[in-house]
Amino acid sequence: MKALLLDLDDTLLDYSGSAPRCWEEACLACCAPGTVGPDALLAAIVEASRWFWEDPVRHRRERVNMLQAWQSIVAHALARLGVEADRLAAAVARDFASRRRERMRLFPEAVESLERLRRRGVPLALVTNGDAGQQRDKIERHGLAAFFDAIVIEGEFGAGKPDEIVYRHALAALAARPEDAWMVGDHLEFDVGAPQRLGLRGVWIDRAGQGLPPGAAVTPDRIVRSLAELTEAL
Ligand SMILES: [Mg+2]
Repeated sequence: MKALLLDLDDTLLDYSGSAPRCWEEACLACCAPGTVGPDALLAAIVEASRWFWEDPVRHRRERVNMLQAWQSIVAHALARLGVEADRLAAAVARDFASRRRERMRLFPEAVESLERLRRRGVPLALVTNGDAGQQRDKIERHGLAAFFDAIVIEGEFGAGKPDEIVYRHALAALAARPEDAWMVGDHLEFDVGAPQRLGLRGVWIDRAGQGLPPGAAVTPDRIVRSLAELTEAL
């Protein structure tokens, strides 16, 4: 490994872990008595969220403005419940966003793993999809910038994983050839399959330890439970 590309959300940062709790609390905080019940809204949000993100075209279009995406999800949930309440949708989305920001944490082994990689002199690129403002805020808030020689954010760069240009841009920034580089992340296609097709090695982080999903089209070069498992083996 002469260069390493790393994903951010759910690889270095526990991004998804707090989401269910934050939706629950946002519904409780924002649903005034006599409007819509927080439990009913929460259930509708869970369903709307699944529907919203499962379409890859919508996913790509909407993930670069997360506050707007969350507001759309709540608005869809309210519409399903037959409630017209744009202000409520905006309030729940804002409340959710701020709770989530407060709750998000780096995984416990993240900093030590990055330090180990730096000590070994491995050039590092952070390659993350999503909203420019949100991703920059996460990077700053959690002190990540200093570890990386290059940071590629979809919302800033104008293209996202799994577009080839994203990985090529990161490799060029590290002056690394694909065959000398690895990419690690939690998304089988974005962080493993697509980089492998360019000649990188792909490492899949399987935190849940559930193994590859049945019929997975991607075969990772390594599967690890955490970043520490990868860096300790170096
Ligand atoms: Mg990820």
